[in-house]
Amino acid sequence: MSEYRQCTATGNWVIIAPERGDRPLDFGETAHEVVVSASRHPEYSPVCPFCPGAEHQSERASYCWPDTEGAWQLRVVPNKFAAVSSAYPPERSHKEMHLKAGGYGMAEVLIESRQHNEHLALMPLSQVEQVIRAYKSRYNTMFDDGHIQCVSIFRNYGKSAGASLVHPHSQIIATLVAPPGVSEQIHYAKRAFDTFGRCVYCDVIELEQQAGVRIVEENSDFIALCPFASRSPYELQIFPKRHSAIFGDINVQEVKSFAAILQSSLRRIYEVLDNPDYNFFIRTMPKHDGGASHFHWYLLILPKIQCSAGFELGTGMYINTTRPEDCAYSLAVTSRAS
Ligand SMILES: [Zn+2]
Ligand SMILES: [Zn+2]
Repeated sequence: MSEYRQCTATGNWVIIAPERGDRPLDFGETAHEVVVSASRHPEYSPVCPFCPGAEHQSERASYCWPDTEGAWQLRVVPNKFAAVSSAYPPERSHKEMHLKAGGYGMAEVLIESRQHNEHLALMPLSQVEQVIRAYKSRYNTMFDDGHIQCVSIFRNYGKSAGASLVHPHSQIIATLVAPPGVSEQIHYAKRAFDTFGRCVYCDVIELEQQAGVRIVEENSDFIALCPFASRSPYELQIFPKRHSAIFGDINVQEVKSFAAILQSSLRRIYEVLDNPDYNFFIRTMPKHDGGASHFHWYLLILPKIQCSAGFELGTGMYINTTRPEDCAYSLAVTSRAS
């Protein structure tokens, strides 16, 4: 059974989950070359647990589109090798000076396509819209559980980004506690709001539009830019233009424009960096706090082209070897993005 443990000195929580070590891996020693081009993989793999015909290997889907199991184009299923589970007790307990809790939570895999070698950057836009609708549905449903404090939506692409299977998928993990990176950032945004009386992210969007040197793309509802203080090369952040703290509040029109700018951003990265491994995640308020004024949700894409080394790991401060302005320029001008 997994469990949460809190560091007594810093207050940061971790999840100790030894069972995760048993999960299957698609990627062998030469994985990087293997994942360079999705088109080199077959459309169907008989050994893949996410391909059609392997549905019996997962528990019942929590979300399926279309809503007919046999003809599904997208499914969300419980993660078999999850770090957290709703079967574990949520109660917290103290032992000596240490605080811990059972590994309560939910962990799901969103299988984004029937096709084993499909790619989020290249698939039909209507399918990406379905992925965003599924994110929203599962996000809001998980928050209906009173124990859940934070729902994390993320995607690992390629071995160096932590993906263990080739089949296109994202992950959704709901946890009992707010992870340290999330709560620290929201605390900082709250302080800025208390000082200036405005959402600091709304200000950033306005200032970036005035500066115009780090913007990659805009549409009616979203803006994609390389952050002023990017931690790594080609870091790309997508903000809704409408102030909103909660990803689950995204409306029908915004789902379409978010899918469009996300796919276009991924395609730019695919073209400019030759299909790199990457992670992306959605950063949103930990718990429903309707109308929160101080936080503004966003999605961050981190291409894996620079490894964290001792300095970064030891200090939490990153050394970036490229200027975000140059990265934004290359991503913005790539001609094959649309
Ligand atoms: Zn597959
Ligand atoms: Zn805002």
